[in-house]
Amino acid sequence: MADKVETESRKLLGRLRRAMAEDSEGQERLNKIVELIAGSMQTEVCSIYLFRDPETLELCATEGLAAEAVHQTRMRLGEGLVGRVAKTRRVVNAADAPAERGFRYMPETGEERYSSFCGIPIQRLGDTLGVLVVQSKEARGFTMDEVYALEVVAMVLAEMAELGAFIGEGAALSARHQQPVMFRGTVAQEGASAGKVFLHEPRVVVTNPISDDPETEKERLREAIESLRMSVDEMLTDQTTVSIEQKKVFEAYRMFANSKSWMRRMEADVDNGLSAEAAVEKEQSLARTRLNQSGDAYLRERLNDLDDLSNRLLRILTGQGSETGAEMPDNPILVARNIGPGELLDYGKSLRGIVLEEGSVGSHATIVARAWAIPLVINAKGITTEALNGDPILVDGEQGVVHLRPDDTVQSAFSDKLAMQTRAQERYSSIREEPATTRDDVRIGLFMNAGLMADLPSLKGSGAEGVGLFRTELQFLIRNQMPRRAELSALYARVMASADGKRVCFRTLDIGSDKVLPYMKPNEEPNPAMGWRAIRVGLDKPGILRMQLQALIRAADGKPLSVMFPFVTLRSEFRAAKAELNKVLAREQRLGNPLPSKLEVGAMLETPSLGFAPESFFEEVDFISVGGNDLKQFFYAADRENELVRKRYDTLNVGFLNYLKMVVGRCEAAGTPISFCGEDAGRPIEALCFAAIGFRSLSMRPASIGPVKHLLRQVNLAEASAVIDEAMKSGAQSVREAVTDWVSTRL
Ligand code: PEP
Ligand code: MG
Repeated sequence: MADKVETESRKLLGRLRRAMAEDSEGQERLNKIVELIAGSMQTEVCSIYLFRDPETLELCATEGLAAEAVHQTRMRLGEGLVGRVAKTRRVVNAADAPAERGFRYMPETGEERYSSFCGIPIQRLGDTLGVLVVQSKEARGFTMDEVYALEVVAMVLAEMAELGAFIGEGAALSARHQQPVMFRGTVAQEGASAGKVFLHEPRVVVTNPISDDPETEKERLREAIESLRMSVDEMLTDQTTVSIEQKKVFEAYRMFANSKSWMRRMEADVDNGLSAEAAVEKEQSLARTRLNQSGDAYLRERLNDLDDLSNRLLRILTGQGSETGAEMPDNPILVARNIGPGELLDYGKSLRGIVLEEGSVGSHATIVARAWAIPLVINAKGITTEALNGDPILVDGEQGVVHLRPDDTVQSAFSDKLAMQTRAQERYSSIREEPATTRDDVRIGLFMNAGLMADLPSLKGSGAEGVGLFRTELQFLIRNQMPRRAELSALYARVMASADGKRVCFRTLDIGSDKVLPYMKPNEEPNPAMGWRAIRVGLDKPGILRMQLQALIRAADGKPLSVMFPFVTLRSEFRAAKAELNKVLAREQRLGNPLPSKLEVGAMLETPSLGFAPESFFEEVDFISVGGNDLKQFFYAADRENELVRKRYDTLNVGFLNYLKMVVGRCEAAGTPISFCGEDAGRPIEALCFAAIGFRSLSMRPASIGPVKHLLRQVNLAEASAVIDEAMKSGAQSVREAVTDWVSTRL
């Protein structure tokens, strides 16, 4: 870097800072800034284009082009050289601009006289805000040093825009993070809710992007890096919490934290006039741009690491967002890139809605949100960069649409939606005490899924006949150490007491796959969903299984008890698990503790193989519960968490229904009750089909009981079976269309 440019750049930033400090309107500031940059870069033209809306750029200030063009000249994203810079987020540096691909002549600006063009994206953390352009008559390419200096200026402009420095009356500039924005995502949990944004990871705000004391800033940077290195080392040596996967990530972190080139780049940014935090953010922005453009999965992961590390560094430098974070607003709507089930449980039921940039319908975080009936939209791309803590937000979990900072029209249309939702709830509550009996008098038992003490009040509210699936692992996930037997026993006793004699079916610990206990060192596995999980862990670590079974028996305290084992694949696994249970029973008896007056021991059918188990298996189990979420992913070989493949395969596909029919038939022959407890049981059309093929018991999230019961009470099950049979005979791939059409004539 030539000294001259360095000092010029710093001088320019110093002037910019003074311009910013002046008490002036946004437009005045912008005018001053373009004048300063043109002067400093010795170019005839300097212009700033900002986004008017996500597709349109607007000339917002210029030195050198026709003044009348300001706020008149607009171009679409990708249009002309300016549009290209914004779209590709790359610098365009052309000595002969009119000869460049995509050059667009704009007569109102009088720009034909300028031959060289250098356009720099104004961006902040992967979010493009506009384009900074310099042009000159002389046909020359700008040097690397000049481009670099302009990048530093663009970075400062981005920070200023973020801080709202260019908003003002008459300026008509797009105020960042103030405009209404709509996001289209995927529905993961239905329902509508209105509230305020609560960011899982709040953005760090850099309030001092410029500094004229590079030595002090470099010292701050070095100190921050040092403390970052130390914290990464601590994470690495903390054997109790670090899994092998995490270790790999932390090792990558350490590599970056020690990276000389990263440090050198940031120091050079500081030499050019940026503050330490602005330098971190500049490099982070560049990395994000590369991340968004890279198709290489490995590189994306590494860049993701760098992104995370930069955030940590920014928190150290600014002292923001450490530990506790922002306070939860009223009606909080959680906005996050992604979230695990444990973290979601930490936030608790007070959330009104959840919006994720990533996420998947089959994940356990989604299951938690569904269990709590919290509207959830996933795949809402870009929301974490746009949303600010406290922003008004509407989540439409029917359409998969999210309105951030909605205008009045959207707001009032949404109020109608909320009112409709309340009316539907009222309709369902009127049948709460009624049984789910079809027109032809077939009674279907509707149970609810639960996992926390806090779920139990829904037993009354939903009209469920009992708890068909109690996911015991949720209790393990919300703690930071393995719960003790006495604690568990007390908890299970409270669950049974609040069920007030209704049946609660406890599933033993189902960990592994995406349910990772923070205090248990997981195995490194290439494919955890098909790995060491659920009953496999229970049988290999019988101590934990026995401890849990003992807690359950003690909690039952002589009353009836229902237990089922998750993810049973072979008869031998069921037998081995039952043998553990028998050992525990014998021990309890020896100790003189009361045994359950009635003990039902079931298996979850979650892998296709169990449906083909020997006859004796169906005779030995007291009941079977179909875990459709897992069963479907193995039946179709389609990861339940992978949105790319999950949706391709319909539950009502003839092959899957025939398989379920076969299993129901085997249970009937053995006189073994069977129920369905996967998420599909809570979808009215699916629930109807399950009932039509012979299921007499369904377990679902509490909020689904009303809609499912409402439909079942309207239909004649024998007719529904005939519709399914006919659709199957007709050669249809799925019976969905035939059943949906038939249902629409009944309601
Ligand atoms: C299932 O797989 O359908 C099930 C109920 O268990 P989980 O979703 O907890 O894996
Ligand atoms: Mg399962």
